Amino acid sequence: MHFIPDNLDDYVAKHSQAEPKLLQELNHETWQKVLTPRMLSGHFQGRILSIISKLIHPKNILEIGTYTGYSALCLAEGMKKKGLLHTIDINEELHDIQRKYFDRSGFGNQIIQHTGNALDIIPEIDLTFDLVFIDADKRNYCNYLELLIPKLKSGSVILSDNVLWSGKVLKPVSEDDIDTKTLVSYNKRLNEHPRLETVLLPIRDGLTISRVI
Ligand code: SAH
Ligand code: CA
Repeated sequence: MHFIPDNLDDYVAKHSQAEPKLLQELNHETWQKVLTPRMLSGHFQGRILSIISKLIHPKNILEIGTYTGYSALCLAEGMKKKGLLHTIDINEELHDIQRKYFDRSGFGNQIIQHTGNALDIIPEIDLTFDLVFIDADKRNYCNYLELLIPKLKSGSVILSDNVLWSGKVLKPVSEDDIDTKTLVSYNKRLNEHPRLETVLLPIRDGLTISRVI
């Protein structure tokens, strides 16, 4: 979902760093072979994830929602030399395409894939994270936040994707639309949380940056 006109969107992308070749290939292969390729972060958002990660220079990164591995590779670009990126996805069919690109990227040894429900896996990873990217099922965003808070420290950053949900967060929400209902309360919770400083950026489908105080 783009909230700015297409021609401005093109201008923005053209005046931002180019998409690295490996990521172009992954983008292409995802569109050819995998269901719902629109979920992939893509060129512009990928470059944002990369530059934010480079600014933070994290040791430990957690990603919730790997899909084909595009955003993981962008986040890995900023990771410390001996850093680790843990990434979780419930869909085991994506494992091989993820691994193929992780290994080709040179970050293969530093990216740890977890297959299963993030609600079960997050508590099992005994680490403090410097950077977290939340991008899995929207109905669990509040639950993910609860599970993550003990694994963060002052200065840790949480990035939350798709928080504008194509603008649905502004419209009347039907009782059975759990994803939108959760995002509405999640956005409020991030903003009001006593341990977080939060800015919601209107990038793509909405990307929130929250910093732990
Ligand atoms: N971060 C990726 C896109 C993620 S799409 C990118 O930017 O390229 C969302 C992913 O979340 C899907 O691959 C889906 O399988 C996964 N997912 C959905 N529910 C999940 C859950 N409960 N636990 C872990 N992964 C989940
Ligand atoms: Ca997303």
